Amino acid sequence: MIEKRQFYINGSWVDPKDGRDHQVINPSTEEACATISLGGQADTDAAVAAAKAALPAWMVTPVGDRIALVEKLMDRYNTRAADMAEAISMEMGAPIDMAAGQQTPAGSWHLKNFIRAAKGFEFDRPLNDRAPNDRIIYEAVGVAALITPWNWPMNQVTLKVGAAAIAGCTMVLKPSEESPLNAMIFAELMDEAGFPAGVFNLVNGDGVGVGTQLSAHPDVDMVSFTGSSRAGRLISKSAADTLKRVHLELGGKGANIIFADADEKAVKRGVLHCMNNTGQSCNAPTRMLVQRDIYDQAVEIAAETAAKVTVGSASDEGRHIGPVVNAVQFEKIQGMIEKGIEEGARLIAGGPGRPEGMNRGYFIRPTVFADCNNDMTIMREEIFGPVLSMMPFDTEEEAIKIANDTVYGLTNYVQTQDGTRANRLARALRSGMVEMNGTSRGAGAPFGGMKQSGNGREGGLWGIEDFLEIKSVSGWKPDA
Ligand code: NAD
Repeated sequence: MIEKRQFYINGSWVDPKDGRDHQVINPSTEEACATISLGGQADTDAAVAAAKAALPAWMVTPVGDRIALVEKLMDRYNTRAADMAEAISMEMGAPIDMAAGQQTPAGSWHLKNFIRAAKGFEFDRPLNDRAPNDRIIYEAVGVAALITPWNWPMNQVTLKVGAAAIAGCTMVLKPSEESPLNAMIFAELMDEAGFPAGVFNLVNGDGVGVGTQLSAHPDVDMVSFTGSSRAGRLISKSAADTLKRVHLELGGKGANIIFADADEKAVKRGVLHCMNNTGQSCNAPTRMLVQRDIYDQAVEIAAETAAKVTVGSASDEGRHIGPVVNAVQFEKIQGMIEKGIEEGARLIAGGPGRPEGMNRGYFIRPTVFADCNNDMTIMREEIFGPVLSMMPFDTEEEAIKIANDTVYGLTNYVQTQDGTRANRLARALRSGMVEMNGTSRGAGAPFGGMKQSGNGREGGLWGIEDFLEIKSVSGWKPDA
């Protein structure tokens, strides 16, 4: 069993001052795989103090030097990719090939995109050609608390740490207590890359403890959070007294609108996308809206596709899906499947209980419901498991109305071969992202939501800007 109780504060691994043991559970086996420590107020204070002390020097370090350190980090990251994949797979249940092929590479991809974006960005420039004495200076927001989830853990950690570091912020990372091991490897890499002491600090803890302490801390200037809407609300409340900036990346209930003229792989692609990472992605296309002309055929394809999705242990190689992260999520998803049946949706694949032959591990049957309506719980709430809900529509206007009838607004998806219609929908859908015909967003594109899906943008230049203040100076002497 792995024992990793220390925190990374002010450039060293230190014993907790106020910690209590916490067991990390492997969701494939339901057995403990590691013991970590959950910190308390004294640990939070020590990490924030280190970040505060390091801030003045770090924020005036030339941006080229900060970028160079992120480049070193990226080199180090790539050398530990196998360890990273193994940790992610064991603690949050992504099958090892998926952890190595998707989860881990997401980290270096984001770092690379930040480096590219920062090199082309003027952090200090005149207002415009007509105002030589007006200067715009982008500078660090200050000490940033980074609170991350377990579902795409290294994706989230790098999106926050890479951007904060380039912007000149110092930081305290509190990774999810469900998946702390990959973040601790990441802290080792920050150390090896040579970031000055105090620029990056890591304290493990839970939401009620370190999460709340960071959000309320008077010496923390901003919180960047990814996770549930529930925690997003609590963090906003904790942060309100100190009026700190709060950036939120929350849940989603993405619609995937499939028109009758969609390409023939659209339905299959939509089902597999929904099931990827065992349905634990905030941008998963979980509501499949299908134009009535092709609805029956789509239901058939969706049932066949889901029936072929295999489920297995995260340590096994292959293209199966793994367990969901923990017992709480397992029970919640089982409850949602029961609710779908109760509320009258037609079960066409999967259903309650574990897949056949499995009696241990948080495994869920890949499940599809047809004939849903947009008032059903399974169409309104984020399930965060391998569960897809389908419903028919007749007209484009109706599809837009259904898609937008949700408190969320993260990603919507459109499948049609009519380019004019696709572009029209891209404008009409109320979400931070719209992906059409299976085309993923490009390198450096911003990730984030509208409405209750959040308010920040991560990745590329927009991600760096989230950690920057804009200072407007008049009376600037251009030649001085
Ligand atoms: P969560 O939001 O509770 O946890 C995410 C992170 O926030 C963790 O680091 C956690 O310790 C911290 N946290 C929790 N409560 C906090 C608080 N009051 N103050 C400060 N920090 C706090 O997520 P979860 O419980 O692990 O998952 C539950 C649900 O969250 C899922 O079913 C899913 O709907 C949603 N979720 C969404 C995302 C996403 O990317 N949008 C990611 C994970 C979970």
